[in-house]
Amino acid sequence: MTRKTIKLAVFSAKPYDKKYLAQVAQDKFPGSVEVFYYDFALRPKTISVVKGVDAVCAFVNDDLSAPVLRALHEAGVRAVLLRCAGYNNVDLAVAKELGIFVARVPSYSPESVAEFAVALLQVLNRHIHRAYNRVREGNFNLQGLVGSTLHGKTVGLIGLGKIGFALARILRGFGCRLLAYDPFPNDAFREFGEFKSLEELLPECDIISLHCPLTEETRYIINESSLAKMKKGALLINTSRGGLIHTKSVITALKKRHLGGLGIDVYEEEGDLFYKDHSGDIIQDDQLMRLLTFPNVVVTGHQAFLTEEALIEIASTTFQNLHDFVTGSECKNSLVKD
Ligand code: NAD
Repeated sequence: MTRKTIKLAVFSAKPYDKKYLAQVAQDKFPGSVEVFYYDFALRPKTISVVKGVDAVCAFVNDDLSAPVLRALHEAGVRAVLLRCAGYNNVDLAVAKELGIFVARVPSYSPESVAEFAVALLQVLNRHIHRAYNRVREGNFNLQGLVGSTLHGKTVGLIGLGKIGFALARILRGFGCRLLAYDPFPNDAFREFGEFKSLEELLPECDIISLHCPLTEETRYIINESSLAKMKKGALLINTSRGGLIHTKSVITALKKRHLGGLGIDVYEEEGDLFYKDHSGDIIQDDQLMRLLTFPNVVVTGHQAFLTEEALIEIASTTFQNLHDFVTGSECKNSLVKD
């Protein structure tokens, strides 16, 4: 691509994104990139802002389905830069058909997410969310706050890539017994624990943490049948993608007290809710609101990645991907291969 000034529209851009993206944009493309930041998500109804833009930069809940990609192409957009690792929201076949360059940030501080998974687990396990509220009311009663020691507990990791492995390293320090299920086993894990089939892993674990991508194969990997196979009282942590869990089945398992607790940073219908302030609204999602009523459920709004280190890596990889697109260099993070 040859032109002097590249126009880039950044969707779902929050002040913390802008801070790091703006810094790197200046370093990487001094005076030759014009960046438009929009705090709303990319949706069919927001596409009109991209007219005359060369590239869009999108995040986890932006819509990059076939009709949106076609409309972007029609408006002149030739590159999609994802500021995330997961790409379940992009129709890659259509991007390829249209010749749109798509690249992602495959890794940004996996430790950020792994450390957050531990934080969620311990909040849930030691009832810190309840303790925090009680103490603020002057209630120092400990009834109902009995947790369990992680030392000696069996933890199952579903998906053992960069984040799963970072979590394995941390949990080894806690003295946990580690099991993992991954169709592409990484031999380095054998020093930490054992690979098992999903069927074998589910009934053995006191804690299960999800770290696989959302694909057609993994959608609802936690469903009525897999929940029934889990140990009674087990805790389930999901910092990966909401669609890995069939929420209705999880609610049933919680009501029956079969599932001992749920810590989620992602939710299957998070798209129109997360990253926005709905505190004055009547939230229409009854499943999510039901989840929030359980004392043994902790929900956060897709923030596991949110550390300064990760934001710096996201910004620099995103602009490196843009640089590769503009210069026609081979891009190692490209998702559309010839
Ligand atoms: P990764 O690609 O390094 O690892 C994913 C692992 O899942 C791989 O080892 C792969 O073999 C395995 N896998 C594939 N199909 C599987 C299946 N059917 N069952 C079990 N395992 C399977 O990815 P990563 O960097 O470790 O990230 C994992 C996921 O975390 C991402 O896909 C993304 O959805 C999510 N994520 C969430 C946040 C957040 O802020 N909450 C941030 C970054 C990433």
